[in-house]
Amino acid sequence: MMSEKIEILSRTADELASDLEALGEKKYRAKQIYEWLHVHHVRSFEEMTNLPKALRSSLEERYCFTKLHAVEVLTSKIDGTKKFLFALEDGNVIESVMMRYSYGLSVCISSQVGCRMGCRFCASTIGGRVRDLTAAEMLCQITQISALMQERVSHVVIMGSGEPLDNYDNLVRFLRIVSDPAGERLSCRDITVSTCGIVPKILELSREQLPVTLALSLHAPTQEKRERLLPIARTYPLDNVMDAVQTYFHETGRRVTFEYSCVQGENTSRQDAMQLADLLGRMNCHVNLIPVNPVEERSYTRPARKDIEAFRGMLEKRGISVTIRREMGRDINGACGQLRRSYLEK
Ligand code: SAH
Repeated sequence: MMSEKIEILSRTADELASDLEALGEKKYRAKQIYEWLHVHHVRSFEEMTNLPKALRSSLEERYCFTKLHAVEVLTSKIDGTKKFLFALEDGNVIESVMMRYSYGLSVCISSQVGCRMGCRFCASTIGGRVRDLTAAEMLCQITQISALMQERVSHVVIMGSGEPLDNYDNLVRFLRIVSDPAGERLSCRDITVSTCGIVPKILELSREQLPVTLALSLHAPTQEKRERLLPIARTYPLDNVMDAVQTYFHETGRRVTFEYSCVQGENTSRQDAMQLADLLGRMNCHVNLIPVNPVEERSYTRPARKDIEAFRGMLEKRGISVTIRREMGRDINGACGQLRRSYLEK
C-alpha cells in the first residue's frame, strides 16, 4: 500500500497521545498536532510551526499524510450535486457524493474499494471487494470536498460503495475522529451508517458510545424475499437483524431508518406493504423508499411512480413514517458504484 509509514490522519486523539508518549514527548504535543490536523487542516509537518524542528523531522520519518486525487468531478445542472471519483495512493478509485441541503453540505462516502456483500441490484459489488479503506481515506473524502467547496461539511452518510460494518475497526476509528469535539466536531446524530445487516457488528456498534444514526438496508419484508435480493441475509436472518436493530435503538436512543429499494415486480405489492407494516409494527423508525437505480449489468427496474406512491400510502395508513427518497443530481445519477465501473472499463 502506501509506505511503511503510519497514516497520521488515521490516528485518534488517544492513539496520537500514546504515540507521542512513546516518543518521550510531553502530552500537550499530541494535542497541538491533533489540532493542526483536525482544526486547522494542515497537511504537512512543516506548517506545524509551534513544534520544535527535531520533533517535526522525527514525525516526518514515522508518519505520512493521506491524499486523494480527484480524477473526475461531475456536477448536476439541476441541483448542484457533485459526484467525485477519487484515486487513492495505490491507484484504486472510489466515489463520493456531495449534496447541498437547506441545513448544509452532506457528503456520502465509500467505506471499501468494491464490496463483497453481493446485493443483486448494486453496482458496487460486481467486481467484489478489492480492499478496505483506512480511516484516513474515509476522512479525506470529507475534508477534501470541504476544502474544494470552501465550506464546512455538516452531515456525513456512509452509504457509498462498500459495507461499513465489514470494515469495522477502520470505521470506528474514523467515527471517533470525525465526531471528536476537539477536532472535526461533527455531531454523531448527523452521521449515518448504512448496513445490509451484519448482526454482531450492529451490536458491537451499539456499545461504542458513538450514537450515530443507523440505516438498515431492508429491501424486503420477509426472510424469503430478502434472501433473493441480499445474499447476506442467509448468514444473518431477518429475525436476528430486527433484534439487533431494536438493541441498537435501546442502547443509543437513535431512531433507526430502514432503506427499502423499490424493485419492479419484487417488493412493492399490497402484500409486501402489509407484511412490512407487520414487521415494523410498533417500532420507532422511519422508512426511506428508494426507486431502484437500474444497473447496466442487472435486469432490475423501478416500479412506476404511482405504484411507489401507492406503496407509501399503504404504509402511512398503517401508521408508519415513510418518505420517498428525493433524487439528487438526477442528471449525473448513475447508481452507486457505476461511475467507478465505467472508469475501470475505460
Ligand atoms: N453496504 C451498505 C451501504 C450500501 S449503499 C448497505 O448495504 O446499506 C446504500 C443503499 O443503497 C443500500 O440500502 C443499498 O442497498 C442501496 N442501493 C445500492 N444499489 C442500489 C441501486 N442500484 N438502486 C437503489 N438502491 C441501491
